[in-house]
Amino acid sequence: MSLARNLVLKTSGLKPVEALVRKSFLFRPLVTRFIAGDTVEEALKESESILGNGPRITLDYLGENSHTEAEALASCATYATMLDKIDAVSAVTAWKGDQKGTEPLNISIKLTQCGLDQGSEFAEANYRKVVQKAAELNNFIRIDMESSAYTARTVEIVTRVHKEFPNTGTVLQSYMHRNDDDVQHVIDNKMRTRLVKGAYLEPSAVAYQEKSKVDEKYVEQSKKLLEFGTYPAIATQDEKIILELKKFVEEKGIDKSGFEFQMLLGIRRDLQSSLVQEGYNVRIYVPYGDQWYPYFTRRLAERPANALFMLKNMFKK
Ligand SMILES: Cc1cc2nc3c(=O)[nH]c(=O)nc-3n(C[C@H](O)[C@H](O)[C@H](O)COP(=O)(O)OP(=O)(O)OC[C@H]3O[C@@H](n4cnc5c(N)ncnc54)[C@H](O)[C@@H]3O)c2cc1C
Repeated sequence: MSLARNLVLKTSGLKPVEALVRKSFLFRPLVTRFIAGDTVEEALKESESILGNGPRITLDYLGENSHTEAEALASCATYATMLDKIDAVSAVTAWKGDQKGTEPLNISIKLTQCGLDQGSEFAEANYRKVVQKAAELNNFIRIDMESSAYTARTVEIVTRVHKEFPNTGTVLQSYMHRNDDDVQHVIDNKMRTRLVKGAYLEPSAVAYQEKSKVDEKYVEQSKKLLEFGTYPAIATQDEKIILELKKFVEEKGIDKSGFEFQMLLGIRRDLQSSLVQEGYNVRIYVPYGDQWYPYFTRRLAERPANALFMLKNMFKK
């Protein structure tokens, strides 16, 4: 992975750097490009304007690693409120709910927000309640994938909850050495899965470091999911890869209704709308909340131009 990416991911974890980025006006335009606001109302307003143009949404209430059980319970209460508010959105009310994967607005959550650091059973119980509520509202809960310290537990927990509630699924990362096995696992268990390249700083013992290898695995694993998976989500802004996968789908005669492309808010809007125009299902990941800093730094690290902007401005007064 690139030097700039590693540098941004490492330095952004330092408390003085975080304080500087949070208070500097220089970063505001980038923050508002990637993040839909502090409140669920702001995020829903942004979502409704996106829905009007064709893509669907997955909402993310930003935050990771609850520090206490009380914090985890508060996050789960927020998820429940989000589900109720989503249920009142007109596009959701109008949705017939008859086509798998086409819910206009679902949510993506993190197991560490549900209390994974406080205990696996505690987090699983909290997550199960959120999924149960979503099932009652005919909605879907996606568990985002976090750093490698959580991968195995995330796959195990989601698999257990999915056996009870099919309206949940997770995310797999192509940079992980274990990912071929995980892709086979979600296919065998008919779990709806989003495939990403992976956004965390991981050691070579667990993850591929060369971008070319991560990309190669991404293409290979996407093809497997598209052919054999259950409504997979191909989540990337990589135009070259998207082009290759569109060709693959056409050659194999895979129906466009059987999968979706996913992209992040504020990145490659041109590509998002051209895919919609070509008749593909597209879902935009819309994050909101005041805990935006870790998410924001991962977005900066992904792109050399963003990373250089951050590194240059970090040292300005
Ligand atoms: C919907 C969605 C959900 C995700 N969920 C997770 C998750 O749960 N866990 C996880 O680890 N990762 C997640 N990610 C992040 C993912 O792992 C990658 O870090 C991220 O998508 C960038 O990789 P890429 O596939 O776009 O390819 P890259 O090779 O990084 O980028 C390809 C091209 O996309 C554009 N681009 C990419 N990122 C940016 C950016 N930040 N700013 C401007 N342009 C950019 C550039 O044109 C770049 O050349 C998610 C990504 C998406 C799209």
